Order: sequence, then C-alpha cells, then structure tokens
Amino acid sequence: MSNAAIVGINWGDEGKGRMVDLLTGDYDVVVRYQGGGNAGHTVINDYGKFALHLLPSGIFRPGVMNILGNGVALDAENLWNEIETVRAKGVPLGPENLRVSERASLLLPWHRLLDGLEEARLKDKKYGSTKQGIAPFYGDKYQKKTVLAGELFYPEHLKSHLADLLEWKNLTLTRVYGAEPVTMDALLEWVADYGEKLKPFVCDTSAWLREASAAGKRILFEAQLGALRDLDFGIHPYTTSSNAIAAFAPVGSGLPGATLDEVIGVTKAYSTCVGEGPFVTEWFGPEAEALREEGGEYGAKTGRPRRVGPMDLVATRYGTRMQAATALALTKLDVLSYMQEIPVCVRYRVNGVETDEFPFPAALADAEPVYQTLPGWGCDVSAARKWEELPQAARDYVEFIERAVGCHIRYVSVGPERDSIIIR
Ligand code: GDP
Repeated sequence: MSNAAIVGINWGDEGKGRMVDLLTGDYDVVVRYQGGGNAGHTVINDYGKFALHLLPSGIFRPGVMNILGNGVALDAENLWNEIETVRAKGVPLGPENLRVSERASLLLPWHRLLDGLEEARLKDKKYGSTKQGIAPFYGDKYQKKTVLAGELFYPEHLKSHLADLLEWKNLTLTRVYGAEPVTMDALLEWVADYGEKLKPFVCDTSAWLREASAAGKRILFEAQLGALRDLDFGIHPYTTSSNAIAAFAPVGSGLPGATLDEVIGVTKAYSTCVGEGPFVTEWFGPEAEALREEGGEYGAKTGRPRRVGPMDLVATRYGTRMQAATALALTKLDVLSYMQEIPVCVRYRVNGVETDEFPFPAALADAEPVYQTLPGWGCDVSAARKWEELPQAARDYVEFIERAVGCHIRYVSVGPERDSIIIR
C-alpha cells in the first residue's frame, strides 16, 4: 500500500491540478480533504481544459474513485456546475466514480452572502476573499452550526435543523449587516433542488475508505491552496479557513489512521499570490506585467490578475517544512525562458537584520528580499522530456532551488499538458 498527498508549498496555484492529473494513473482513489469552491485547479487533458474547484482531479481517469471528504466545504452549487461541465465534455461521472462524505457540511446560501457583506464592511482592510462563503462556513462549522450532507436523508430532522439555523443566521444578516433575511421558503427550495442532485453521491465514505485501504488500494490526497495559506501555519490572517497542509489529510478525508508514504509539494519556478497580505518578492510595473503575461497568471476562479515575483526561497523552504514534503514538483520552468537573468530571493532582511527563517506574520510586512541573480537559459524548454535535454543553466537553476530548500525536486514541469514533464 502506498498513499501520497499532493499539496501546495506557497500561496496556492502552484500547479497541483496538473500534478494530480499526471499521477492519478498510479492511484485507485483521489480524495479532497479541505477547502471548497474558492480555489481552482486547472487540468488540461484529452477531454479539454477544466477549472476544477471541488471535484477531485482523478475524475478523468477511468477506474479511479473520487471522494469529497468530511473536511471539505460542500458547496453544492459549485459542485453541481462542475459535474455538469465535466459530463458535457463526455467524462463518465456518477456514484461509481464520485462519492461525497455524509459528514461533509453543506455550504448554505447565507455563507456566500455573509462573505461578500463582511469583505464590503472591511473595505480597504479586506482579506481578499474569493467570496465563495468559505470563512463564514468554517466559522459556523466550528460553532457546530452547519448541516451535514447525510441529514438530507432525514427530511423532518433536516427541516427543523434548518429552521433553527435560519433564525440564528438572520439575526446576523439583518442586525449586523442590515441585509435582507433569507426566507424559509427560499432555503427549502434550494435544499430541494441541490439536495436531490447531491443525494445519490452521499454515503459513508469513511467506511468505504477504510475498506479500500485494508484491501491495499492506493490513495492520493489532493489539497487546495498552499502552506502559506494554511489556517494554522500560514500568513495569518491572510490564510484560508481550513488546513491546507498534508498532516490534515487523514482527518479531513475521513481516514484518521492513514499514513502518508509520500508528500509531494508543488511549487512554481517563481512566485505568485492571489489576494491580500504580505508578499515579499512582489514585482510591480513592467517587470510584473511581463512575468504575468508569460505565465498567464490570472486566477482560475476569479480571473483576477495574480501578484507575481521571483522565487522566494525563504517562504518555499518554510512551506516545504510545514508540508513535511518528501519530494517537490517544480512547475512552470518554461515560463522563465524569456529572462536573461533570473533573480531568486535567498534571504530576508527584517529591520536591517538578514535572516533565513520565515518571520512571524506580524513581522513579515517589514521583510525585504535579498536577491541572488542566476543566469537565464534563453531558449524554449517546453519540449524537454529528459533531464539531460534541459540547458545547463536551467538544470543549475533547479539544483540551486533544491539545495536551498533542502528537498529533492523529482518533477520538473515545462508545460501545462499532461506529458510536459521531466521525472528525475
Ligand atoms: P493549482 O490550483 O495548484 O492546481 O494551480 P492552477 O491550476 O490554478 O494554476 C496552474 C496554472 O499553470 C494552470 O493554468 C496550469 O495549466 C498551468 N501550468 C501548470 N504547470 C505548468 C507548466 O509547467 N508550464 C506552464 N506553462 N503552465 C503550467
């Protein structure tokens, strides 16, 4: 038996989707264990190009079971849209290859509403939410004020539970934010629609996983976002509201005893960040424009231009440690081909003192990057499929990162397509 997690090392958008799509061929089960409709994985394969937010990236592989675990924010609207989009492209999708944990909490219409209202209240102090309801959802989950997917099978119980929650939630909507209340009729209509759509997929996935694991099935745990956005270890408060680290995979998937034989950390050959918060190596102006254009750095969910800058080895080393990565995948090396020289941030200077350590969040705003410049390779590397086919300067760049971060870079991705990869 061999289990692995694929996780983000930085702010998210590292290319986890393409790595999961590549590696799912070696696994029997792919499980999403946290997050919801807020971040998107881009997958390009024979069926076309997809931005997946909730569906596990194993959905395209015949014979692979895909599971949304109890740790996921079960956004029925987004999930259903994805199911329909994927089916429309001819991908077989049903309860035989997608299952949803009965213990996953439903993201309800007021979560999205409250997310937008709170960001509007924060004005220029906003956290940069994607307004998919994630923070209000997880807040409610910790307060035990959510509905579990399995409650869809107990209609009378569900109705009275929803009525209690509605009464409580409308106090916040109307008295704190001065917004319109949600009506019970609208809520029941929503549940009747999306609940019925989801029901065929909902079951005890924990029991299913336990049996699959005992039978020696190989399980791949798929994370969203990255270590720097992890609720506990990320750049507080500019984190997401769930744990994006690999250590949470056994809990959020519903297989608490699972061991991770491998943790594959995905990091880009440069840095990008969506949303607010400190980003030490951020570029502005024409330099940023050029990198953003070359890398197509626009959010998969929101279309927002991503903040971009050089590789940040301090943050990447920290992310690698917090993920306890056993190997790294370096993506988008091809994007850097246009640069004559490539700066990488090797240390920070915080209030005049140089450091290798990733600072406490409150000190991060004072950190400045200390750069070392490496030679570029000045040619297209997207056709390379073997390590030796990369120019020397590109290999030097990869090895420099590997040494600085202290983790083997096993995969070097040189394009978005499934086979644009070098395995070392
Ligand atoms: P994720 O959330 O970590 O899955 O990342 P995204 O899918 O949002 O962002 C990664 C983007 O980079 C997607 O558009 C991918 O198709 C693309 N991509 C991934 N790997 C490579 C690569 O090696 N080269 C290039 N040019 N694009 C890549």
